Amino acid sequence: MTKKEIAALAAEELEKLYPDAECTLDYSKPYELMFAARLAAQCTDARVNIVTKTLFKKYPTLEAFANADLEELEQDVKPCGFYHTKAKSLKEMAGQLINDFGGEVPDTMEELLTLSGIGRKTANLMLGDVFGKPAIVTDTHCIRITGRLGLTKNKEPAKVEKDLAKLIPPEKSSDFCHRTVEFGRDICNARKPKCGECPLNYFCKYYAERT
Ligand code: SF4
Repeated sequence: MTKKEIAALAAEELEKLYPDAECTLDYSKPYELMFAARLAAQCTDARVNIVTKTLFKKYPTLEAFANADLEELEQDVKPCGFYHTKAKSLKEMAGQLINDFGGEVPDTMEELLTLSGIGRKTANLMLGDVFGKPAIVTDTHCIRITGRLGLTKNKEPAKVEKDLAKLIPPEKSSDFCHRTVEFGRDICNARKPKCGECPLNYFCKYYAERT
């Protein structure tokens, strides 16, 4: 079986398992998704959602974030960890969005990467979820699962992104990545993947090597 065939089968099986491919971060405005994604670094989406529920009420606009007292903002995002750098990013990003982009989230990778604390992963999340563009979000689940399936030998996010871009149809890439996150939590966990009950096991390289 070629890698493209495996990728197509994986996409099909994952779609059956998770018909509603959705981001698990809560947001109502595009910049809120970006801020939530920034807070989600080294933190669970569930915890971020608890924090942002209050945070987005306390700071309801970009201006409110840009003018926030940094120390107070640090305390507000503290439960997400790395709160010094995360608070600084949020405040700086708010200023950049106001001053450089007219208060809107930009829709190109190049522009997104100019924002404070934003890397390719979050930029891709924005491109896929907000702008409906092809986007491969290489989070830890996606990297682990596509590696186990034999779609990539790389572990470095940028390289995995390149490998997957050749295999997953662009219009399916964003949903595919969301589904790998749910699949990684439910079945293909890091420590004890439930291979016996996994609907992908008949074409999984990892499973074949262990049975
Ligand atoms: Fe993951 Fe196992 Fe399924 Fe392969 S068979 S995708 S390793 S759970």
